[in-house]
Amino acid sequence: MIVVLSKGIATHDKEMVRIYLKDRGFNIREQSFGEDAIIGASGKGVVDVRELGLLPGVERVAATSKPYELVSRETKSEDTIVTVGNVKIGGSRITVIAGPCAVESKEQIMETAARVRESGAVILRGGAYKPRTSPYAFQGLGMQGLEFMKAAGEANGMPIVTEVVSPELAVQMKDLTDMFQIGARNMQNFELLKKVGSLGKPVLLKRGPSATIEEWLMAAEYLLASGTNDVVFCERGIRTFETYTRNTLDISAIPVIKSLSHLPVIVDPSHAVGIRAKVSPAALAAIAAGADGLTVEVHLHPDEALSDGPQSLYPEQFEKLMRDVEALAPVVGKELLRTPRPHHHVTSLDGAAPFNGAAPLSGAMPLDSATTAGGPSLGATTGAFNEAVFDGNLPVAFSGESGAFAEQALMRAFGEDAKRIQTDGFKAVFDAVLDGSACAGVIPVENSLAGSVHENYDLFLRYPDIAMVGELKLRIVHCLIADGRAELDSIRVIRSHPQGFAQCKDFLDKHPDWELEPFNNTATAVASIVREGAVKVAAIAGEAAAIAHGLKVLKEGIETNPLNYTRFVIISRRTGGKAQGELIAAPVPPSLGSGKPTKASLVFSVSDEPGSLFACLKIMSERGINLSKLESRPIQGKPWEYLFYADVSIPDSAGVFDAAIAELKTKTRDFHFLGAYRAAV
Ligand code: PEP
Ligand code: MN
Repeated sequence: MIVVLSKGIATHDKEMVRIYLKDRGFNIREQSFGEDAIIGASGKGVVDVRELGLLPGVERVAATSKPYELVSRETKSEDTIVTVGNVKIGGSRITVIAGPCAVESKEQIMETAARVRESGAVILRGGAYKPRTSPYAFQGLGMQGLEFMKAAGEANGMPIVTEVVSPELAVQMKDLTDMFQIGARNMQNFELLKKVGSLGKPVLLKRGPSATIEEWLMAAEYLLASGTNDVVFCERGIRTFETYTRNTLDISAIPVIKSLSHLPVIVDPSHAVGIRAKVSPAALAAIAAGADGLTVEVHLHPDEALSDGPQSLYPEQFEKLMRDVEALAPVVGKELLRTPRPHHHVTSLDGAAPFNGAAPLSGAMPLDSATTAGGPSLGATTGAFNEAVFDGNLPVAFSGESGAFAEQALMRAFGEDAKRIQTDGFKAVFDAVLDGSACAGVIPVENSLAGSVHENYDLFLRYPDIAMVGELKLRIVHCLIADGRAELDSIRVIRSHPQGFAQCKDFLDKHPDWELEPFNNTATAVASIVREGAVKVAAIAGEAAAIAHGLKVLKEGIETNPLNYTRFVIISRRTGGKAQGELIAAPVPPSLGSGKPTKASLVFSVSDEPGSLFACLKIMSERGINLSKLESRPIQGKPWEYLFYADVSIPDSAGVFDAAIAELKTKTRDFHFLGAYRAAV
């Protein structure tokens, strides 16, 4: 049981609470948890919780049925997001840590850091103090190794995590590392846990090779009780009768920890299986089981590694794993976390100096710098993309209410704590971005089952000063949501966005008697049920909307096909109108990747004569520009005339793209450049 004390509780009142609990047979322990002062009471005492809650200075009493309290979900129901430097762990992101088992030399850690960073790792790992089974094995470079690692982390914009093996070293290492790792062998080294916890830094807590889940939770309890709030569990395999693999990866520990604790859990597939070829499959299984991330050993030359070579991935294998993780993440409702790379690094990768609004891509003449007719300069658009950083001061707009899919996309792109504005309808999102009350908006444009959201494509034409600056894809799992008292048989009316109906067509076809009522947004439909207290009405929306509005999920997964994804775009405002096409502060969230745009969206019309569309497609085909989408829409007010909506790839050599756009403009009637952005996987 936890007694949360009011801030500024009088000493005398606190003493009374202590006496009250002791008199009733509890062992008590005082601790602080974030800003709260807490008394943890354990043992076989009996208490009237309401009476205890009424004592002066008692804010709240949380009864836990578990021996661990601070780590328990009973104490804190929402997920804890752990921050390590510029990186977050937990929530809907997948955070990947990579690096060698041990720091072996300055060159080795520098080069490894650059390689894993390029593949998408956001935290650098490496041991400076290695607890080895044999006293004759390489023990690590010590403080010097840590200094090399810090330099490698800084050069690549990655916070670092390293193992600490003694309380004395913890103090010495504190200012050099961003996160402490407690190794498997030290999971129950309580003096170490207490010391490390008291330093207040984030901690990666490995599971002991023979530790039960409860012992592991208790070890985390030590850390929280001694002062840190930021603990990440790391499952790294346990000792079983099986000897083929180094350890046995306990996949089931992931969902168990996630239900028992609010803290994130990541997986170390390297130490779990110990065999290089088995690391990636185990890593993917961990992601599928709900892990918040991975820590993976990577070595440039595993055969020469001073420790754990046989389980270290080659950089190419790690790169492949990252691509697979990125593709798998949306299936479990997550997204691979990316963070911005330091400037010099991006530059060297691009092979060109970072450009501002006026500078061309890859040194080519910006085609639009002289002729501004018909659309924005790509040089300006893509340049702004590279430079812009989301500063988080202005809100981001989305259409709908809490729990809307667009809100999930927004949180995925800008973070759970991003300021946001809810609007009524998509047009209001464009308005908010245009008038500057929002720095960006999140807009669905296409669903993999139901097709384009035409309303939004049309809005882009009505708002030429708004551009697309990013995209992301969200897996959409629809639920039938209703009041707690409702049953499937009593439902008569279904509410949702028309896209929701379209995506659940097969399910709805089985209930022809249901009346369908379209709403602006799926979450708005859910909210309407609460407002009306309706019991014969259900809504089609995501589980998040049911949770946000306190309703019951009658049936989960009712979309016609589980491969149901919606593509959202991030929109921002251009300055100087359509002609200049320059973007102001296009706040591309780092989670959508840094670097130059790889995709662009265009709208054009062609003359009514043979071969006119072919001529446009030929321009792209000849330059190796991939057309990933082409759709025609009637032009309003011009019967039987059409606009073509195209999504195209931007080749590496961007001068080629600028030239293609310039030529396209000569072959098209109307031409709109909706935006350039990094393609989502
Ligand atoms: C390590 O991460 O290099 C390590 C020694 O791991 P573990 O403590 O899980 O064996
Ligand atoms: Mn190792």
